Amino acid sequence: MEQLSTKYGKKYELLKQYFGYTEFREGQEMLIDSLLNGQDTLGIMPTGAGKSICYQIPALMLPGITLVVSPLISLMKDQVSSLNQAGIHAAYLNSSLTVNQYRMAMQYAAQGRYKIIYVAPERLETEEFRMFASQAQISMVCVDEAHCVSQWGQDFRPSYLNISRFVDTLHVRPVIGAFTATATKEVRDDIICMLKLWNPTVLVSGFDRKNLFFGVQTPKNKFGALQEYVVGHEDQSGIIYCLTRKDVEEVCERLRSAGVAATRYHAGLGDRERQENQDDFIYDRSPVMVATNAFGMGIDKSNVRYVIHYNMPKNIESYYQEAGRAGRDGEPSECILYYSGQDVRIHEFMMDQEPENEALSWDERELVQEQDRIRLRKMTYYCFTNDCLRDYILRYFGEEGSGYCGNCSNCLTDYEEVDMTDIAADVITCIRECRQRYGINVIVGVLRGENRAKLRSYGLTGLSSFGLRRGMEETKLKNLINQMVMDGFLLVTRDKYMLLKLTGNAKEILDGNLKVTMKCKPRQEEPAAADSTQQKRRKQRISDILNSKGLELFDKLREKRLEIARQEGMPPYIIFSDKTLTDMCVKVPLNREEMLNVTGVGQNKYERYGEKFIEFIREFSGGVHQVYYFEEENGKAPSVESYQKGGSAKTVRVETENDNGSLVRNSQDSGKKSGRRLKAEFMMSERIASQMYYSEKCTLSELVQQMNDQRDASVMKQIKNKTIMDRLIREGYVQETVCDDIQRKIITEKGTALGLFIEKKVSRDGNAYDVLYYNEAAQRAIVDRLLDEWRLPLSENTGD
Ligand code: ADP
Ligand code: ZN
Repeated sequence: MEQLSTKYGKKYELLKQYFGYTEFREGQEMLIDSLLNGQDTLGIMPTGAGKSICYQIPALMLPGITLVVSPLISLMKDQVSSLNQAGIHAAYLNSSLTVNQYRMAMQYAAQGRYKIIYVAPERLETEEFRMFASQAQISMVCVDEAHCVSQWGQDFRPSYLNISRFVDTLHVRPVIGAFTATATKEVRDDIICMLKLWNPTVLVSGFDRKNLFFGVQTPKNKFGALQEYVVGHEDQSGIIYCLTRKDVEEVCERLRSAGVAATRYHAGLGDRERQENQDDFIYDRSPVMVATNAFGMGIDKSNVRYVIHYNMPKNIESYYQEAGRAGRDGEPSECILYYSGQDVRIHEFMMDQEPENEALSWDERELVQEQDRIRLRKMTYYCFTNDCLRDYILRYFGEEGSGYCGNCSNCLTDYEEVDMTDIAADVITCIRECRQRYGINVIVGVLRGENRAKLRSYGLTGLSSFGLRRGMEETKLKNLINQMVMDGFLLVTRDKYMLLKLTGNAKEILDGNLKVTMKCKPRQEEPAAADSTQQKRRKQRISDILNSKGLELFDKLREKRLEIARQEGMPPYIIFSDKTLTDMCVKVPLNREEMLNVTGVGQNKYERYGEKFIEFIREFSGGVHQVYYFEEENGKAPSVESYQKGGSAKTVRVETENDNGSLVRNSQDSGKKSGRRLKAEFMMSERIASQMYYSEKCTLSELVQQMNDQRDASVMKQIKNKTIMDRLIREGYVQETVCDDIQRKIITEKGTALGLFIEKKVSRDGNAYDVLYYNEAAQRAIVDRLLDEWRLPLSENTGD
């Protein structure tokens, strides 16, 4: 007992009593100690690392009140419910309270009833709050999402500038804690300046989230892949991020038709609907959320088991933040990105369209755009690299990785290390011959000796490097070039043309001083293997710990939790996390002491729910400590905490879908094509999509010509105008009518919306006629749909 009275013991006591945990996570203790020592503190930790406990525990130990400044109402509500559930007196003050509620809360606050008060930054300036603050004993001010104070960040909130003004008005300066997940140097420095932190302790904790699996896939049929995943993870909560509102609508609708309880969120919905949908998600009424990146800040749902990016985000910062919303409870969770070249082009387009920011000069704007383009490129490399994905992310944030994590789609693929030095030398020669004036598509086209009008018109077909690597897979060549950029042999210009240039290191390759190796995917494997490994992977979760009886108990406990959650109007995960339920299945607690020994069960939660769960578990187990788990190798019960760290290190092979996994699955709807042919088709359409040149307007023939120019005749049938026109008619973009014996085409409203338009022309002999044009958006839409869902002409009759 003696020891417990020391500060050290007290921390642990509170951690167990209120939060039900026995160990601090990396970094938490140091931040807590710093605050307790009266030292201003800046904690930079990734989402889900457990920032809140870092100020909540000191708040309980310091005399007086802690104010927590937080930007979002939903975030405050969630935090305060969690604290109240844990038995800590807390309240929030923001615009969601009625005048009466606010008065009441202020009154209680003045009486010292709350240890922790969450407050919106706007409130700090109000007279009433100032009055209160001048009389209260405020020992600590904590700033959550502190990056909102920085004008460099994307989430700048002018009201955050109130914070330091407010602190200046207090008689006694409280200790200040600031917390964020944003790591860049500029933002970090801004936080220290703008919040006027005094000689702060700065802790940047490891950005690694070991429980997250990272994967990149390139599905031909994105929706098909998504549906399969979501249906295969039934009962689990997940977020699907799309780039556009339109995609959100469409994906959500299609998932619903497939029987998935999905809801949606984007800035185009009304406030009320957004709130309702968000609540449906949080309360697990609709466990699947389809959303744009407008969704998520302040969402503290701990049991999100997967985050799928239906489109590639514009930079790694956004990706990691969004993906990081998976697995906040520390349980194994998956973050999967569906890549398509199209996404890159959309981002480039959006960057060019960015509304002019008046606050920036022309030079500054150029600089910002340049930074954006570099970030986008690094995001793209993430999708191409064959190295460890986790390592890639960690290195991006300035951390050293181990080179192999065993829990990402690259580490789990058996790549072959192939010597590519000769090819790399050809790339260098080619770039040199092209006088460093072109981007990757042209260089690859030249090396492959492609018969493209563009290459002819640039006069590149006569170069000695033309056709030097004829027949080499395009993706492979592109991957190599990307890797050479990452390794510093080449660089890409920072403007929007992205020309490839040689660096000084390139010469080392030509001189034979350096070798270039690349991880390549091995030749295709037996298709059947793909499915069984998929299955295997899926089992790397709770079912890895619990046996079938255990899983049954787990499901029952979840039902129980949901029932209580509904009664109390609380999100289920605030009652108990999945991890806590899993631990109950392992430990089978039959009395108070045993229940308190379960991770996540603190004193207060025990008092509220402990008995209900014990009763239930007694009934289920017949009052005996049954074994509902798979024993560890040492014969011991598995530890839920250590599981999250070690659980993923199994070597299983995952198929990403430019392997033949999902392509073979596609073959169900495309007759008897072989995996190899499907793969070839897939590559073909990727290639076409990535090489199209979209003009302001063009005719269908011109568009089709361009596609056919890129086509490899051995894989793909010629695309015909008629095939596309028939589709457009069938889908109601164009109508055909006969008038004066002349067949004419009329553009419907739908067609106009797509970007079709007619121009009147007069022929040489004086006859008027219509020309049907397609604007850029329409061209893109046709190419995408043709290659994606229509999948028309791809080897339709070529057989095998
Ligand atoms: P952040 O604010 O950093 O995104 P949170 O503070 O919301 O993360 O914590 C994420 C999850 O981790 C919560 O469910 C929290 O209860 C849990 N957690 C925090 N600290 C610990 C710990 N020491 N041991 C186990 N779980 C913890
Ligand atoms: Zn890895």
